[in-house]
Amino acid sequence: MFEQFEVIPDADMSQYTTLKLGGPADWLAFPRSGAEIAAMFSEAGAKGIPVTVIGHGSNLLVLDGGIRGLVIRVEKNMRAIRREGCRIIAQAGAMLGSVALFAADAGLTGLEFASGIPGTVGGGVTMNAGAYDGEMAQVVVQVDGIYPDGKTVSLTKEEMGFGYRRSVVKELNFVVTEVTFELQEGDPAAIRVRMSELNAKRAEKQPLDVPSAGSTFKRPEGYYAAALIDQCGLKGYSVGDAMVSMKHAGFLVNTGKSSADFKTLMDKVQSIVEQRAGVKLEPEIRILGEEERA
Ligand SMILES: Cc1cc2nc3c(=O)[nH]c(=O)nc-3n(C[C@H](O)[C@H](O)[C@H](O)COP(=O)(O)OP(=O)(O)OC[C@H]3O[C@@H](n4cnc5c(N)ncnc54)[C@H](O)[C@@H]3O)c2cc1C
Repeated sequence: MFEQFEVIPDADMSQYTTLKLGGPADWLAFPRSGAEIAAMFSEAGAKGIPVTVIGHGSNLLVLDGGIRGLVIRVEKNMRAIRREGCRIIAQAGAMLGSVALFAADAGLTGLEFASGIPGTVGGGVTMNAGAYDGEMAQVVVQVDGIYPDGKTVSLTKEEMGFGYRRSVVKELNFVVTEVTFELQEGDPAAIRVRMSELNAKRAEKQPLDVPSAGSTFKRPEGYYAAALIDQCGLKGYSVGDAMVSMKHAGFLVNTGKSSADFKTLMDKVQSIVEQRAGVKLEPEIRILGEEERA
């Protein structure tokens, strides 16, 4: 099945997520174009096989039972980036860090905030990824994609319904294939300095040497998730192989092989913070797959 595509059967998803967790996907495919994505949906649809779309896997918890059906990873084979005046057009699989570097080389400013976010352009617009007062909504002007039935879609920034860590991609259920950014002219050296400063800040504050999916919870209105977790005395709190980072309480980190431990830790942190601080934390990371393989 799916032989005409680049595909790995029974793929170990812990190799394709930054948390380094997750059981096998029945098939993991690496499309080279929007047309291939449409062909994958078509073959899966004809055979009644469910389809899941992911990017780099930096905002995902894949459960231990893995993912049934076809997982389409829009990443390594769709990374082209080009410039048109003050615009940069990137395929959805391009990493945000690469696009930010491309922009710096082109003397275009506006994407410095994204240079340390370890995900793809497609995942970035889906999540409206942001950092240091910047977010995708500020720089994206157009998003192109494809629906499971093969129809293409092109949305303006206004039509993308960007909000805090959200967009309409999930509601409309399309796959992002290309994103157009509009930036301003700037000095390449100054842009690089700013990027280095932000990345140094990140390395100082975040546990970048341990597997994680970044901030596990969204920022609750009027609070910071990390501060609440810290105030509840949960730095270093662990369940099996999963632990609240000592360096940054907003990061739950993985030191072993159990998604079940990680999920239990998430649930415990949520309930302790709700009991002690009266605030309900909501996961920012997306949870995929099954707890156990049937
Ligand atoms: C160390 C670390 C630091 C981080 N720092 C930040 C930060 O500062 N700010 C921030 O916002 N996030 C941060 N993150 C989280 C993560 O990097 C972002 O959410 C990123 O945008 C996710 O991109 P991805 O390609 O990895 O998407 P994935 O994790 O693979 O997927 C995320 C969601 O997007 C969907 N998706 C992915 N690609 C597509 C596509 N082409 N079409 C349709 N849907 C798609 C998936 O279905 C899923 O729902 C951090 C993560 C780590 C590990």
